[in-house]
Amino acid sequence: MTQEYDLVILGGGTGGYVAAIRASQLGLKTAIVEKGKLGGTCLHKGCIPSKALLRSAEVYATAKNSETFGITVGEVTVNFTKVQERKEKIVEQLHKGVHHLMKQGKIDVYEGLGRILGPSIFSPMPGTISVEMNNGEENEMLLPKNVIVATGSRPRTLPGLEADGQYVMTSDEALVMEELPKSIIIVGGGVIGIEWASMLADFGTEVTVIEYADRIVPTEDKEVSREMQRAMKKKGVKIITSAKVLSETLKKGDGVSIGAEVKGETKEFFAEKLLVSVGRQANVEGIGLENTEIELEKGYLQTNEFFQTKESHIYAIGDVIGGLQLAHVASHEGIVAVEHIAGGNPDPIDYTLVSKCIYSSPEAASVGLTEDEAKEKGFEVKTGKFSFKAIGKALVYGESDGFVKIIADKATNDILGVHMIGPHVTDMISEAGLAKVLDATPWEVAHTIHPHPTLSEAIGEAALAVEGKAIHS
Ligand code: FAD
Repeated sequence: MTQEYDLVILGGGTGGYVAAIRASQLGLKTAIVEKGKLGGTCLHKGCIPSKALLRSAEVYATAKNSETFGITVGEVTVNFTKVQERKEKIVEQLHKGVHHLMKQGKIDVYEGLGRILGPSIFSPMPGTISVEMNNGEENEMLLPKNVIVATGSRPRTLPGLEADGQYVMTSDEALVMEELPKSIIIVGGGVIGIEWASMLADFGTEVTVIEYADRIVPTEDKEVSREMQRAMKKKGVKIITSAKVLSETLKKGDGVSIGAEVKGETKEFFAEKLLVSVGRQANVEGIGLENTEIELEKGYLQTNEFFQTKESHIYAIGDVIGGLQLAHVASHEGIVAVEHIAGGNPDPIDYTLVSKCIYSSPEAASVGLTEDEAKEKGFEVKTGKFSFKAIGKALVYGESDGFVKIIADKATNDILGVHMIGPHVTDMISEAGLAKVLDATPWEVAHTIHPHPTLSEAIGEAALAVEGKAIHS
């Protein structure tokens, strides 16, 4: 059967389903084609399940440490089956919520594999979209005026280190493992690798992280990387930096062993499992790109600032276009694309205003430039830093490692970047995000009276510290 739509979205992940809701709000007749589950990577294989596991690990670590709070408990053990069940329950609740939102917005959902067939006599614009239905029924044919490609990404692997269902995993397999490994090698010390390292170490797994760069979380401010490394080591995580994993040396048997070239020397590492966490790769295959003029660069779809590809009626958003591969970025890109489709004039996204978070324990969060980036761009900078050690609420929580650092431009007083590592900073970064959006100065942040006792006092104090006027340092 052929159906006509104002908009058809390929992929119902965080980018796709949010775009569909905005499209429905704007009165566009909209359909989503999803080959897996609505909610995509973030809901089923990313943000939500990983944070559910992190939370269980944190509760376990806190319970084991309960004497510090004057609380004596019996033997504390992990029932990993229940940990996984809790995670599944949260995911399912949210999954149902997304289906409800689609229904509420009168958005048609096609469960199947979508493919762009190109212009046809029926539709000269993006052409027909064929949907190979998951239930085996006859292919659906959709005739849209506009298309958004939001097909997301999947874990990148290294040749020779592909997931094998037993020893080698990516985050996809790790999220559904049935038992906790006694030991693990994590290849890649980026955001996802460090979240896993933190979680597994808190659960009691022996963790070794092998990172190619000279520091873990290398896209963060150097001082945050250093503090994160210290925190991971405190948990017992072994961190090997400036190390190139030699995939060809992988041996499987009673666990895994792998070699790595570390500062000119070859070293061998052993563990029960190996997790490859070396980034993501765009899902661009099998979606009919060959029937379009759309261009790829380094495997990602190319778009303009309104997310139009070379074919102006085909837009692309989210992980499939690369850049900051984050759920909130994918959603926002979807909203901008839909508002443009609907004839609006949305503001292009300023990616320097996007907050980035790491949900390890301690957490890290940032917005704007790192100190090195600011200097490379020619800014003369002044910085203010304030430790959670002097924040009453952090001591009350028993989590006083970390700091807030603010980088400002000496010439204009503008805030260039804010970097935090410590308790609950992922929930605090939005204040810094708002300060950046409003072009606030450290003075304005400092004069936003922060309630006492809160963790956010560290932001106010760091802002005062930019002028050397912090109160509690
Ligand atoms: P996806 O969520 O990948 O959705 C794409 C959808 O398209 C999928 O459902 C797929 O099945 C479907 N699809 C693909 N091809 C077709 C086709 N031909 N036809 C029909 N459907 C198709 N981001 C954060 O912001 N915060 C976090 O804490 C966070 N944690 C993460 C943890 C992990 C372990 C991982 C892996 C990622 C994490 N991310 C996090 C990143 C986040 O998940 C992604 O940035 C986000 O999901 C991107 O959304 P998207 O809509 O572009 O793509």
